[in-house]
Amino acid sequence: MLSRPPRVLPTAVILSLLFLSSCASSPVQERQMLVMDTILRVVAYGRDVEAALEAALTEARRLEALWDRHRQGSEIWRVNRSAGSEPVSVSPETVALLQAALQFAELTGGALDVTIGPVVDLWGFGSGEGRIPPGQLLREALHLVDYRKVRTDAERGTVGLAEEGMSLDLGAVAKGAAVDALWSVLKEAGVRSALVDLGGNIRLLGSPPGRPEWLIGVQDPRDPSRLLGYLRLAGGAVATSGDYQRYFMVGGRRYHHILDPRTGWPAAEVASVTVWAPTALQADALSTALFVLGPERGYEMACSLPGVEALFVLPGGQVKLTPGMQSVFRVNPP
Ligand code: ADP
Ligand code: MG
Repeated sequence: MLSRPPRVLPTAVILSLLFLSSCASSPVQERQMLVMDTILRVVAYGRDVEAALEAALTEARRLEALWDRHRQGSEIWRVNRSAGSEPVSVSPETVALLQAALQFAELTGGALDVTIGPVVDLWGFGSGEGRIPPGQLLREALHLVDYRKVRTDAERGTVGLAEEGMSLDLGAVAKGAAVDALWSVLKEAGVRSALVDLGGNIRLLGSPPGRPEWLIGVQDPRDPSRLLGYLRLAGGAVATSGDYQRYFMVGGRRYHHILDPRTGWPAAEVASVTVWAPTALQADALSTALFVLGPERGYEMACSLPGVEALFVLPGGQVKLTPGMQSVFRVNPP
């Protein structure tokens, strides 16, 4: 479905403000493209980084072709089409991503569940035409949502879904996994200072020239043109899940794309969650899961995971930060 409009147009979910802070003497190269339904931005500092940047863009297109469930012939499309019958042969990175997603599902008690596809379809978030689904259909679709019914076999290189009608939707994890893959491409090509940003899923490589930290802006979920503040990060990855990224309004209520797999309804306890974690996959998976878990249980989970910090923005605008996030968050730019 190449005709779908990209979901995030001119601004990424998190604006990286490295341009404000970059040192003019170090050459910088930037590439942008539309991929995975959003904007990819790759910025690399140093000389001779062009080939690495091109290789990163090629990798992004390759992974999109594997993981877009709406693209006819993609690996996820084939797995979904075979639901209820034989497992499907897929590439090692697809098995690895599914296995990681299932671990996050276990860890979060199913708050993150990539078998949410049938429910996402009912709400119309994949097609861009949002609607409130009839309760009966929602209940039927919920029976098909269960990550324990995904079969992965790394040795055989297969993935299967136990029941007909099930479908995988990697929307909550694929961008993070892709950012990690692009980051590795850059690193292996010898790039020492770079930032990969795929629709607000960001991973940092090295440090920006002349500075110890990157400066990442965090958007205000109720006015995404405004920044709530800044994160000063020496490394790692950041992702935000928000109720403002894809939604429709009915009767003054906001219906958005992060769904609680227990109810099939949009999770309503927070407006956005920003996660800082060692890898972009962790940040992506956990930002969605903590959004569903909410500001109490989600906060506790973030505190319990080593290397993971979180910032919750509540629907009323209050901000709740884990201690480690507090130490890198500033309201005003330096
Ligand atoms: P974005 O894709 O806007 O960056 P997320 O990473 O939070 O935001 O992913 C949200 C997407 O993940 C939804 O559009 C949907 O495709 C899928 N999704 C929604 N709720 C869940 C859930 N509870 N578990 C797994 N995937 C989900
Ligand atoms: Mg996510």
